[in-house]
Amino acid sequence: MFELNAVALEKILMQEQLKDLNVVVLSVAGAFRKGKSFLLDFMLRYMYSQSSESWMGGNDEPLTGFSWRGGCERETTGIQAWSEVFVVEKEDGSKVAVLLIDTQGAFDSQSTIKDCATVFALSTMISSIQVYNLSQNIQEDDLQHLQLFTEYGRLAIEEVYEKPFQKLLFLIRDWCYPYEHKYGLAGGNRFLEHRLQVKQNQHEELQNVRKHIHSCFSSIGCFLLPHPGLKVATNPHFDGRLKDIDDEFKKELQNLVPLLLAPENLVEKDINGAKVTCRDLLEYFKAYIKIYQGDELPHPKSMLQATAEANNLTAVAGAKDTYSRSMEQICGGDQPYLAPIDLQRHHEDLKQTSVQKFRSVKKMGGAEFSQRYQEQLESELDEVYSSFVKHNESKNIFYAARTPATLFAVMFF
Ligand code: GDP
Ligand code: MG
Repeated sequence: MFELNAVALEKILMQEQLKDLNVVVLSVAGAFRKGKSFLLDFMLRYMYSQSSESWMGGNDEPLTGFSWRGGCERETTGIQAWSEVFVVEKEDGSKVAVLLIDTQGAFDSQSTIKDCATVFALSTMISSIQVYNLSQNIQEDDLQHLQLFTEYGRLAIEEVYEKPFQKLLFLIRDWCYPYEHKYGLAGGNRFLEHRLQVKQNQHEELQNVRKHIHSCFSSIGCFLLPHPGLKVATNPHFDGRLKDIDDEFKKELQNLVPLLLAPENLVEKDINGAKVTCRDLLEYFKAYIKIYQGDELPHPKSMLQATAEANNLTAVAGAKDTYSRSMEQICGGDQPYLAPIDLQRHHEDLKQTSVQKFRSVKKMGGAEFSQRYQEQLESELDEVYSSFVKHNESKNIFYAARTPATLFAVMFF
């Protein structure tokens, strides 16, 4: 029932200038009609304005981007990526690709518990920054959504000794108690500490979430956002103009967005201690969607299995790419014909280098598991080789000259 629009995603992620860049994936998840898309549209403004001071825009500009409002009707359940991926230069000069993700229809009354959990789980698995958008407070069942991850986190840590996820930000909208905990990050963090305290009378499973959540995410924070004002919340004609939004809200928004998206704060997606490129992300997407297609919510073990699988596949793809590029330089389109014996020698050398490269990448799932993928790599390399052989043969004029027509051409020139 969850389907991946692989073609569309591939079009986005496999663009030449993007596919090899490390990727930052920011997702906003949480209940329906709580201002997620509205917030993401401000993030888009920030990204489009290249983080200039006046990124929030003019007083009279309607807010566009991910569709928000839409009355009470919800849109299709699922996960949507903004089709433009932003390339940002970090302080050290390296470039990263930033992908913004909106989740839709999660947690509302019409979705089954499974759908909600699936959207939340899937978006957490693929993001490096998960913004958990909540209204007014953190309730016990908000924490319940994190249960799967604390379990997954424990399994992952046993195997790879790394925290599986990067950043989780609880974002509380319409915060009403600024006198207890101030708006913003510092107040939010203190509030979160308080909410995550383990107490005797809490349900045991939720006690476990509280105990283990820190082992899943490298950083956990909380931001308290004020109410945006009545026009935003209730006026049907409100179209996102700044002049209709409360100053206090705008002031906090001005801090919140750069906190997540300023170049120095961008968190790259990391799996098993290695940065994930746009090309790799596509592989992970495909692997995860498979395990979320069944009727049941996947077990943390199968989530780990899928991660290990995709992790090995990205290593295969990386090693294969190195081989193909080097071979291209030796016997690609513009290169002259090579004696078959020389071509074979190059192939054998480069195949060995490529397999070495695969073996040297830190992988999940254990040695025996990886062996299967090494074999897959070797047979894929042989396939690529045989197409290079054919291509090489076609450049051989003696070979090509077998038909009279070409023979004529050869003699003529
Ligand atoms: P989504 O379903 O979570 O993506 O919610 P939308 O972004 O579509 O917003 C739903 C409605 O909430 C719109 O009418 C917005 O104007 C309004 N809204 C946006 N931000 C806030 C907020 O922080 N508090 C309140 N109370 N309403 C908001
Ligand atoms: Mg929305």
